[in-house]
Amino acid sequence: MFKPNSGRKVDSSVWSYFKYEPATDKSRCTVILDGGHDSERRACEQQLSGKNATNLRNHLRSKHKTEFAELQSAEQRCKSLEADSRQQKLTVQVCLVSFAFIMVALCSRADHYIVQAQQKSAG
Ligand SMILES: [Zn+2]
Repeated sequence: MFKPNSGRKVDSSVWSYFKYEPATDKSRCTVILDGGHDSERRACEQQLSGKNATNLRNHLRSKHKTEFAELQSAEQRCKSLEADSRQQKLTVQVCLVSFAFIMVALCSRADHYIVQAQQKSAG
């Protein structure tokens, strides 16, 4: 069966670029280096001891600037999404309040139109 991916944590996104090998307690960098031709493309393969996310990030930052920028912007998107959802809860409350005001305004205007219409049909 196919498992949904929804439980994935934000701080694990650095693992898109590394593969941890428990046997050696090392994390191998899987970033593909651009060799100019497809046939020359190979992974960085650099091994970092342990699986400390900060170490891995440091390696990306110093060796793979493009990938590090990708990682950062992905994290930034996640953060702004979180901020958005907080904002949305607030917006919903504000919306409900203003909706109530709009309804009151519409109703009083509707009364006005009904009165106008009645006057027209009468006159
Ligand atoms: Zn690397």
